[in-house]
Formats: sequence, C-alpha cells, structure tokens
Amino acid sequence: MENKKVYIETLGCQMNKSDAERMYGMLEHIGYTQTENPKEADMLIINTCSIRQLSEDKAYSQIGVWGKWKGMTVNENGTRVYNPYPKIVFAGCVAQQAGEKLFRRAPYVDLVLGTQRLYELPNLVKRIENGERIVSVDEKPFEESDIQINRVKGINAWVPIMEGCNNFCTYCIVPYTRGRERSRKPELIMAEIKKALSEGFKEITLLGQNVDSYGKGVNETQNGFEISDTKEYGKDLAGNTINLSWLLRQINALEGKFRIRFVTNYPTDITDEVIDTVIELDKVCEYFHIPMQSGDDYVLKKMNRRYDYATYKKICDHIRSRIPDVTITSDFIAGFPGETEEQFENTLKAMTELELDYSNTAAYSPRERTVAAKWVDKYIPEDVKTDRLARLNEHNRACCLISNKKYLGREMEVLVENYEVRKNGDKVITGRTRNNKIVHIPCDRDLTGEFVNVRITNARTWYLNGELI
Ligand code: SF4
Repeated sequence: MENKKVYIETLGCQMNKSDAERMYGMLEHIGYTQTENPKEADMLIINTCSIRQLSEDKAYSQIGVWGKWKGMTVNENGTRVYNPYPKIVFAGCVAQQAGEKLFRRAPYVDLVLGTQRLYELPNLVKRIENGERIVSVDEKPFEESDIQINRVKGINAWVPIMEGCNNFCTYCIVPYTRGRERSRKPELIMAEIKKALSEGFKEITLLGQNVDSYGKGVNETQNGFEISDTKEYGKDLAGNTINLSWLLRQINALEGKFRIRFVTNYPTDITDEVIDTVIELDKVCEYFHIPMQSGDDYVLKKMNRRYDYATYKKICDHIRSRIPDVTITSDFIAGFPGETEEQFENTLKAMTELELDYSNTAAYSPRERTVAAKWVDKYIPEDVKTDRLARLNEHNRACCLISNKKYLGREMEVLVENYEVRKNGDKVITGRTRNNKIVHIPCDRDLTGEFVNVRITNARTWYLNGELI
C-alpha cells in the first residue's frame, strides 16, 4: 500500500508521549506518514495509560469506537471477520497488563504491544499487514538499536534515560507495566540529544521513573555498553563512573546554549553528587521533582515508601540550603486506603511547612495487581476522597502563590516557548525560568526559542508576569 497513514492517540504521562514520538519515527522508516485525522488512517494506535481507572476506561472506549469503523462481515463458513483496515494497535501500560485477554475483549485489534516491546514495532507492523494478529508483551525488553524518533516540534525535547521501577510502592502499577529498572545506553542518549539540539530544541529533559538509578543497571562490554535487566544484575558502569551526574556532565559539555532538566527523583536516592552537579554545571537547571505522596509516617509506611516525613524534610532543607532559588515540586495522593482524617491533615501540614513550589495531586485509584488494591475494606468512600482532594488542591494553590511571590521584582532568564496574539489584541510571549516558573511577558515579536532577561512584575497562582529588560 502506498502513502500509508498512521494516527496515534496518547494517554497519560510524558514517558508515553516520548514513546509515541519513537513510534512515529520507526513507522516513518517503513513508509508511514503521520495524520491528525483518525478517519483517514490505515493504522490506528492507542498508547494507553493505566495509572488510574479513568484513563484505562478511556482506552477501551476509544478502541470500541475504532472497532466499529473497521466493520465486520460474515465469511462463507459463517465466521465473523473484521475488515483488514484500519489496523488497530493497542499499546502501552494497559496493553502490557491485558496481553492475550485483549483479543477476547476486542476481536478487531490486530496488535497488542507491551511497553517493553516498543522497538519491535516495525517488524510487528509488517506481520499484521500480512494478516497476522499478534500479542507481544514479553517482559524481556526488545533492544533499541538506532535513533528513530520523530519529535513533536517545540523547545523542550524529552529524552528517556531509564525505564521501569524496582520500588513497588503499594499503590503503583508502574513496576508491573514498565518492568524492572533498565538504563539506556549512553551513546544512544547522547546521539539523540545531539540530534535534538541540531533540530533547534533548546531544552533537554531527561526522563525516567527514577533518574537517580541511571547507570545502576548498565554493564560494560568490550564493544561499549549494554542494557541489563535489574539494578542487582550489574554494578555501576566502569566502577561507579556511569550515573546521573556522569551523564549530566557529558550533556553539559555539548556546545551551544541550552538547558538540561531531569525528572523524576526518588527522595532518598538523591545524592550529594547530583546536587553538586546541579550547582556546578551551567546548563543544568535548579529544579527537582521529588514525589512525597503523603505527609504522614504511617501512611508512607503503608505505601512502602522508604522515608518518613522528617527524612523528606531534611532532603528538601538540604537541597534548598545549597541551591537557594531551587524549585521543588512533588506528588500527593488523597484518600489512600485506611487514611484517617488526622493522617490526611498531616499531608496538608507537610505541604505548607515544606513550602513546596507546586504539587501534582490525585485521589487514590485502586490498580489491579498492586498490594493496596487488595485492602478493599480500607477503601475511603468516594465523597471523602473528593473532599480531601479539593482541600489538597486548595493548599497547593496557596503554596504556589507563596512560592511565586518570592520572585516579585527579581531579574530572571526566561526561555521563550510560545508567542500569541490574544483576542483583545495583546501580544504576549510565554516561557520558563531556569527554576521552571512560567512567565508571561508583553512583547510584539515572536521570540520563541530565545533566552530573554525579564523583571518579574506580578505573581499569580500558576504563573508570573514580567517585562523585558
Ligand atoms: S517509585 Fe513507587 S510510585 Fe514511583 S514508579 Fe516506582 S513504584 Fe511507582
């Protein structure tokens, strides 16, 4: 088939969005072009997220719609068969969990693609084009061999450096859907970053469930580096030299003006070496995303998090004492099974006391296979969870405003990400400071991609206003 078109719908986190860019890149190599219109696509891919039930339901409902487009006929033997096009691919975290079962639930799906088989996609697509129906959810990663990425144009390039998690927090599905921690080969990461910079990207964000684990699963081989399956499998590469700090140094040494960020950090895995690196390297930004999840020690224990409130506070205080303008953001869950009102209030207190700059918040959503999902008798009623989430959000808003007000009158460097002419005729550029604050600035020229110096003139809950200086 000539001029084949693919449409990808991505749900969930930045890792999924990054996977979608990789899928586009690989499919381009085998003759597909991207379309924004699913109705004209020869192949429809849904890249699913299983972090919450709502997101999982959305994925099933979407393929239900696509299945109807595909239509069904009855062959001469009386068997129901679906038209061969469009091909439907069910990928991502829900696919990893559902596996073979998905074919029974959605007989019009052609390929179930697990998270660790992403790089097998071109081979599998050729086979489904020949009429096969395939489930590929093996937990052994299909190794990446080349840079095949078709990035969404922009300023910030997301670059995965590791994937998976060994922590098994009791509420979290990630270790089951993304597998154990694996680091990407440094040479692949560096080549990908060089390519992104040559394409005009000005900010590189290193991505991983636990970026501090980078390198802890990488072994040295005679020919360079190879990916290993678990932390235990190998020591840090080349006698502890390959780790997050090492990688940051390699990237910082690349020519040109650009910024480097990394997410996400597990609180107790942040080392002094990483903090030193952030201070020392000019391109690495003053920003840490450190999920806390709860401010109550008993709940943290039940969540299987490896720290208590005092330890988390010590980590924040330590980072702030060394990097004065650092932004620290976090994640919190409201209504974890068994959480009492008093325990929830400890989370509110923690958010305020730690002066967190921003937090992602969510009500607890039970995920099949996780430990906490089995504590059905301890589930918090929906109305209580909703109320707690609303109170958490209120605290979050207050913390954000306090944080933003600290920068009133300050001069800051902003990397411009966007230019718009508003309905009232105002012309505004929007960008971020090194410490990840959003700033709107009146400006009659499109300066997207440029670094500008700005004086902060106003602080709102979610953003700052500034003027060019
Ligand atoms: S650290 Fe915990 S919350 Fe984060 S991905 Fe791993 S299991 Fe999930």
